[in-house]
Amino acid sequence: MSYQIHWFKKNLRFQDNEILLKTNNSSSILIYIIEPELWLQKDMSQRQWEFIWESVKLLKTDLAKHKLHLNILSGDASEIFQSLHQKYSFTEVISEQETGIHWTFERDKKLKSLFKDLKIKWVEYPYFGVKRGKHNRDHWAGSIQQILKKPLINIEKYIDQSEILNFDEHEKPINFYDKTPCPFRQKGGSHQAHDLLETFLESRGENYQREMSSPITAEHSCSRLSPHFAHGTLSLRQAFQLAEKKRFEIQSTNKVFAKSINAFLSRLYWRSHFIQKLEDEPSIELKSFIPLYDDIRDQDEEKLQSWIKGETGIPFIDACMIYLRNHGWINFRMRAMLASFAAYNLWLDWRYYAPPLAALFTDFEPGIHYSQIQMQSGTTGINTIRMYNPYKQSEEQDPDAHFIINNIPGYKNVPKNLLHYPETVTPFELQLLPPTWKSPIVNVSQSSKKAKDTIYGIRKMINHKTLAKSVFLKHGSRKSH
Ligand SMILES: Cc1cc2nc3c(=O)[nH]c(=O)nc-3n(C[C@H](O)[C@H](O)[C@H](O)COP(=O)(O)OP(=O)(O)OC[C@H]3O[C@@H](n4cnc5c(N)ncnc54)[C@H](O)[C@@H]3O)c2cc1C
Repeated sequence: MSYQIHWFKKNLRFQDNEILLKTNNSSSILIYIIEPELWLQKDMSQRQWEFIWESVKLLKTDLAKHKLHLNILSGDASEIFQSLHQKYSFTEVISEQETGIHWTFERDKKLKSLFKDLKIKWVEYPYFGVKRGKHNRDHWAGSIQQILKKPLINIEKYIDQSEILNFDEHEKPINFYDKTPCPFRQKGGSHQAHDLLETFLESRGENYQREMSSPITAEHSCSRLSPHFAHGTLSLRQAFQLAEKKRFEIQSTNKVFAKSINAFLSRLYWRSHFIQKLEDEPSIELKSFIPLYDDIRDQDEEKLQSWIKGETGIPFIDACMIYLRNHGWINFRMRAMLASFAAYNLWLDWRYYAPPLAALFTDFEPGIHYSQIQMQSGTTGINTIRMYNPYKQSEEQDPDAHFIINNIPGYKNVPKNLLHYPETVTPFELQLLPPTWKSPIVNVSQSSKKAKDTIYGIRKMINHKTLAKSVFLKHGSRKSH
């Protein structure tokens, strides 16, 4: 008998899952591998694992309803595949294509060579629109449209209700590099994802476009689907098609909602667009798009710790970081502001501050994260330099300072103007402030000016233009959706 392995990686769902397409006889073995070494990487964390584990358990239940058994194994992937091969001499491995961190990239390279030696075929279904190998970036936008509009895969049609091999499960405890508690973490599993999508399209998303920038309104008005896309508990195509359907239904009756859905659909495209960058150039996790920006910044542990713990003395920055630590999520604008503050005001090397920030995101998606970090640090050469002024953001996004006070309750009685502009505190006011009050660790306007001078100085270098052109040709967006 010739077996085939269906390996669940970052596609923890039953619906619209291509790796289940060929589950049509008793020779299929379904596996999920817990890889302890992966969880020791600096950008991986307990909160991400807990979300994944909830999702794996629900996936197992969903599969069992169709008489499919998910085997959960723990250990080094190469060793697991070798021992499975000795027992079952399988000839094919089917999985989704993974665009992950350097560690998973190296693991996949090792597996590729193992499978080649053992004459095993590895079928990797591409992630929605993300192309592997040589491809023409000019045609990319058109091809992803076709993929997202393709009918969903009806797995039930393919399954032949047969018993799947069953073997021992190993659920080893895992050590984590980052164990920061996350009391308000989103829950994993496809059912949660479908509920979120439904409520977003039903009503939550109506004012999405207007309310996505403030952390107060974004919590409710953003889709909150990111951890589900990151771990594949929801198919991007399914979300895209249901959103398009909703837009069609309301476009003549509710223009505000229709516009919000357009904005949401664009972001679903962006998702694959960003992942494509890492797929095309895995080194962007470790090197600046433009090498001229490598090694210009510091690795200052004290500043990093103040920032990542929400103790910089800039109340709005600290409130956003504390919210992120407690929720495992924050909205785009605030992520950009936190990154900009680390990169420009604290002048921290992006390779130094990006992993601990990633570890706080339940939705950590390497392709989006590292591309965005480089954009917000001004190292891509092709994007406008955007330095967020945290004081301006504080006043605009949290005018009544409710968000600050909710996240730093000790500041309840601090006057609003000092929460927005802590640098203006007088020595007299300082005596009246609570003992937990922190003074800013950096002068915002001076550090912004210094950063601007340095970055624009590099932009003016003769070879910057040539380097930026090659970045654009390889990674630049060709079409606005
Ligand atoms: C420094 C920085 C790091 C980031 N790291 C991550 C990350 O690790 N994982 C992650 O999923 N997102 C990341 N983002 C992008 C964005 O902030 C999140 O996708 C978004 O806040 C998730 O919330 P949501 O699901 O409610 O998004 P919605 O606004 O409802 O958007 C729907 C989906 O579109 C995709 N999306 C939204 N914004 C973007 C974007 N700018 N680029 C690419 N795709 C997008 C996401 O998959 C998101 O779930 C990062 C942004 C910045 C500035």
